[in-house]
Amino acid sequence: MTRPVLQPVVVGAGPAGIRAAQTLAAHGLRPIVIDEAARAGGQIYRRPPAHFKRTPQRLYGTEAGRAIAVHAAIDDLQDRIDHRPDSLVWSAQDQQLDVLHGPTQTTRTVPYGQLIVATGATDRVLPVPGWTLPGVYTLGGAQVALKFQGCAIGSRVVFMGTGPLLYLVAYQYAKAGVKVAAVLDTARFVDQLAAVPAMLRQPAVFAKGVTYIAWLRAHGVALRSGARPVRILGEERVRSVVWAEGGREHTIDCDAVGFGYALRSETQLADLLGCRFAYAPMHRAHLPERDAAGRSSVPGVYLAGDGAGIMGADAAEWAGELTALTLLADHSVGVDTQRARVLQQKLEKLSGFRAGLERAFPFPEDWAAQAPDELVVCRCENVTAGELRRAVADSGADEMNRLKALTRVGMGRCQGRMCGVAAAEILAHATGQPVQQVGRFRGQAPIKPIPIHLLRPADEEVAA
Ligand SMILES: Cc1cc2nc3c(=O)[nH]c(=O)nc-3n(C[C@H](O)[C@H](O)[C@H](O)COP(=O)(O)OP(=O)(O)OC[C@H]3O[C@@H](n4cnc5c(N)ncnc54)[C@H](O)[C@@H]3O)c2cc1C
Repeated sequence: MTRPVLQPVVVGAGPAGIRAAQTLAAHGLRPIVIDEAARAGGQIYRRPPAHFKRTPQRLYGTEAGRAIAVHAAIDDLQDRIDHRPDSLVWSAQDQQLDVLHGPTQTTRTVPYGQLIVATGATDRVLPVPGWTLPGVYTLGGAQVALKFQGCAIGSRVVFMGTGPLLYLVAYQYAKAGVKVAAVLDTARFVDQLAAVPAMLRQPAVFAKGVTYIAWLRAHGVALRSGARPVRILGEERVRSVVWAEGGREHTIDCDAVGFGYALRSETQLADLLGCRFAYAPMHRAHLPERDAAGRSSVPGVYLAGDGAGIMGADAAEWAGELTALTLLADHSVGVDTQRARVLQQKLEKLSGFRAGLERAFPFPEDWAAQAPDELVVCRCENVTAGELRRAVADSGADEMNRLKALTRVGMGRCQGRMCGVAAAEILAHATGQPVQQVGRFRGQAPIKPIPIHLLRPADEEVAA
């Protein structure tokens, strides 16, 4: 039997994409690996510029060993893959990707036979009045500053929101010598207590979380549970945070804020590729469907890692390897099926722990009810919660894309990647529907901003 021609492309060089590429290369293929970042590693193992001197231990803490292993894997692969860093996939159609090369500001098409989408995640943002002030960052943004630029977002920082990243980033900042003024978690202590049995399914990960919290407490950092952010105050820059606990408001001074509510999957590319989506209650999001082996609903398109549901870095590596094995097996390449089964079992086992995390750090379902009318939800287009509510009242809009057309929410530079979650919550609350009913913003190209002149056909002349 003749083997079909394989021309695999991997989008995303985080833990999922790197393991996928490594597996494809181990079976004699030479995949193209595209990532918009200058250096491979993804979010958790984000690599600083080559001349930075901080050790992996200082950069990645308890994750240093994995970071070193993942970086070594991609370094070893360099002559067996076609690695294209600084390259943003901004559109996809007809078996080809449109890719912007950042340093030269040129765009080219990359054809593919098979595609592994491993595009990862970004912060899940629920705005609070004052969040557009200078000095306010997402938790992920605050961490990127530390890992990639070697600098802090301020000298006296409040971290707030919820999710495991909240305590991790606070810990990393405090270890780096920054004064952490407070950690304000919307989750209640009883939520965290109730989640312990499920979290103990991954004792090592659970122990890390407990260590961060214990270390922060031992070093005098104020940790508040059940704390609702009310507003961020300041004129030219953040000055303080007002938060509420048990019906009373409190104010704390700071010069920077890091906030976020866990993560959301980067799904736009899967959307442009025509993958079928379904609502995933645990993730409170519409996600591209994938079977247990990593196949999407589109033949030849595979999904790995956080881009199809937030499962964490270890799961991303397993899913990357599994997806590559599936791709190979689907195209008649002999693979270790026992290894594929083991990976599948590991991923299935993790879902109990993942449910425990949701229990420990629940999504604040009352957020939309508390959001004041003047709150800016979409900062690209400056659309407030009140404007969204008025559009619902005036037009009866009950679906996200209708709301977008009426108000321009999600129509700006971020294409709804930052405001989509909050807009859906406001719409669901205003219409009295469950959030899954209001749908999601349809993916549109370009999925991230590109220079407008690149959209002009090559032979089109600009009038003098
Ligand atoms: C900011 C941030 C910080 C995090 N920090 C931690 C942490 O400290 N500890 C922890 O346990 N977990 C952390 N996480 C979660 C953890 O990073 C993920 O679980 C894990 O990295 C998932 O791996 P992945 O390969 O699926 O995706 P990622 O590691 O997110 O990799 C995805 C890659 O795809 C690339 N990409 C995305 N879209 C495109 C496109 N259109 N074109 C080209 N390239 C594209 C990105 O540049 C990125 O390199 C963090 C997540 C975020 C968002």
